[in-house]
Amino acid sequence: MTSLGTGLTTILAGTLIDGAGNDPRHHVTITISGGTITAIADGHDAPSGSSVIDARHLTVMPGLIDSHVHLAMVPKGLEDRLQTPYSLQVAETLVNARLTLEAGITSVRDAGGMPRGTKLAIERGLFPGPRVRISVGALSQTGGHGDSTTRSGVRLRADTASSPMSEHPWTIVDGVDEARKGVRELIRAGADQIKMMTSGGVMSPGSEPGRPGFSIEEITAIVNEARAAGRTTMSHAQASVGIMNAVRCGVDSIEHGIYLTEEICEEMCKRGTYLVPTLVAPLWVVRRGEADPTSVPAWAVEKGRAVMADHQASFKLAVELGVTVAMGTDSGVGPHGTNAEELERMVFGGMTAMQAIVASTSVAARCCQLDHLTGTIAVGMRADILAIHGDPLADIRVLQDTGNMHLIMKDGQAFKQLP
Ligand SMILES: [Zn+2]
Repeated sequence: MTSLGTGLTTILAGTLIDGAGNDPRHHVTITISGGTITAIADGHDAPSGSSVIDARHLTVMPGLIDSHVHLAMVPKGLEDRLQTPYSLQVAETLVNARLTLEAGITSVRDAGGMPRGTKLAIERGLFPGPRVRISVGALSQTGGHGDSTTRSGVRLRADTASSPMSEHPWTIVDGVDEARKGVRELIRAGADQIKMMTSGGVMSPGSEPGRPGFSIEEITAIVNEARAAGRTTMSHAQASVGIMNAVRCGVDSIEHGIYLTEEICEEMCKRGTYLVPTLVAPLWVVRRGEADPTSVPAWAVEKGRAVMADHQASFKLAVELGVTVAMGTDSGVGPHGTNAEELERMVFGGMTAMQAIVASTSVAARCCQLDHLTGTIAVGMRADILAIHGDPLADIRVLQDTGNMHLIMKDGQAFKQLP
């Protein structure tokens, strides 16, 4: 970032979308000092000596927030995965972080796989990437969605818990005591929130999306243990029973939510439970399978195809009934950096473009416990700001083309700024 003597940066904005859902403002000047937004004023007046970013022809909005990514995961086949050393996976994670920031995503919540060191590397400025809230791993019951044991009995994830060097605690737990210990070990490994699997899934060999995971007692133990440590909980929950169990036990966000019912939506509204739909995830499972059958097993493509229509219908129902939706993509299932396609799916599913943007900024910030820092363009917030060509309110797809991103700013630092 070029900054002159005053240390002030000003952005002259053509149109301002604040992320909170207010009507767009026009001809506005945003002042930034020390990475924080210090003033927002009508008109285009830059204080003398400030470094000026001319966005008078652009739309200025908060950096996008993806509430469900897997930065440590790359869409690739089993053979490839087995031939990837852990150190290479760490390197790939950092590349994925950069790709995500390049797409205008300035904050993410990692839903499992990302070790603490990669988050620290970004925070210390060693590698570019979004703000990250990590889960480290995801708790699952034996044979549940997180259990990657193959039908031949091979454990794809080695039991690393015994190694003092391990940054990944063992996350297959059964019974209340193991569940509680699982939470504690994840928190020791740096988890910002606790992820669990309360239903089966599309990408796991032994589980079905329609079946629940964990008992009420186990889920309750996980939620209580997480709360005691000031952590929120997020649940991979695709089937109705698994969703309702999680909601009733006080889980903070439902991930995927493929089979919602009216009763579940009402319960979510009552409790303020977030829905993180990840509509693009099954789409990418099918796309990958069609492009390269070695990338996704046939059974996963079949499951992906089977759930797509129900998923979109559930989303529509949730929007109609007023469930709080936070944007998430499950990136890693699909390619990193394509996150903004999710907003198109959300608009297709019944949201207005403004609702999709709010779900991807201020609501996502609350869901990820980052709303004290980011998610809106307001005085006192950190300057996570995009300036883009085009009007996303008229066509949400403009956000998908990184060529439209004129400015990507995180914490007041321009990661990308076109001349
Ligand atoms: Zn996921």
